[in-house]
Amino acid sequence: MEVVKIDSISRDRKNIAEFLIHNLEDLGLKVRVDNAGEKVNSNSGNIIARFRGNIKQATPIMFSAHMDTVVPGKNILPICERDRIVSSGKTILGADDKAGIAALLEALQIIKENLVPCGDVEIVFSICEEIGLLGAKNLDLSSLNAQMAFVLDSGGQVGEIVNAAPSQNSLKFNIYGKAAHAGSKPEEGINAIQIAGFALSRMELGRIDEETTANIGIISGGKATNIVPDEVILEGEVRSRNEEKLEKYTGKLKQIVEETAQEFKAKAEVKINREYSCYNLSADCQVVKMAVKAAMDMGLEPKLRPSGGGSDANVLNKKGFPSVDLAVGMTNVHTVDEYILIDDLKKTAEYIVSIIKTAASGKNE
Ligand SMILES: [Zn+2]
Repeated sequence: MEVVKIDSISRDRKNIAEFLIHNLEDLGLKVRVDNAGEKVNSNSGNIIARFRGNIKQATPIMFSAHMDTVVPGKNILPICERDRIVSSGKTILGADDKAGIAALLEALQIIKENLVPCGDVEIVFSICEEIGLLGAKNLDLSSLNAQMAFVLDSGGQVGEIVNAAPSQNSLKFNIYGKAAHAGSKPEEGINAIQIAGFALSRMELGRIDEETTANIGIISGGKATNIVPDEVILEGEVRSRNEEKLEKYTGKLKQIVEETAQEFKAKAEVKINREYSCYNLSADCQVVKMAVKAAMDMGLEPKLRPSGGGSDANVLNKKGFPSVDLAVGMTNVHTVDEYILIDDLKKTAEYIVSIIKTAASGKNE
């Protein structure tokens, strides 16, 4: 509740960063902040902290959670309601991803208080996850000892392990028609809004197949009712856990817009940007095996599952750093109905401790 009360909209996380640095240092970690903030125009960089363990043969591991939250996320007032923490209803709660942060701080506290034997544990609190995984993209992994990461940033039951997530292309279509007076010379105009309408009606959107989705989320254009509109912008995205399907479907949407524009003797400009790339880790990948074993050790039923969303794990995997995204129980994220069960916060902290113990045993078969 303390952590979600600190405002931390993307690019403005100075206060939360200071709070976390202070807490990590109190827990005995060595803390530094990288220069990712300067690169992405944010007032804090990624926080990288190291807990020195006493077991040499342990597998060095890293945990990460992101510090930024979405809007409306200022002046959050968390309320403890029976078995859960909710927001006042005016803002998000910010369990995405403060639940991961809180559980990590608690787990470190447990390790410290109980002198749990463990190896080196590194913690990364990343910036600007919600606006394009920018912190993770600018994180220098060469400074880390860890060989794998556990990202604490998924909804679902604790024990669910996201071992596959999609790639995402963002799409921006500018459709250029021709302006004209709508009353006196409409025949001289080309209506960009109408072209966009035709193009949209020809697109299949939503769930395309079990690993592919598509969406147009923003439409803008037009200046006045008495002007034939000369420009419309459509913005959207395609995601797939299959690269071939991603490119094929992205190409299809591009073709629809270009061909529709042509029919009306208009022009279309298409911009495609790869936001992040997919990952697909098999069940015998070491990071997956460790997550599974640690869950079983504490009596959870581990479940491997794919996700429809991206996280810092996508970026880390792309950089050759095997990473899974773990469910922490956050529910209805990115809405004012967001909540988290107190039991899930506890379980997540326990799960982190279990993973640290698994890594300390050195063998993860
Ligand atoms: Zn998140």
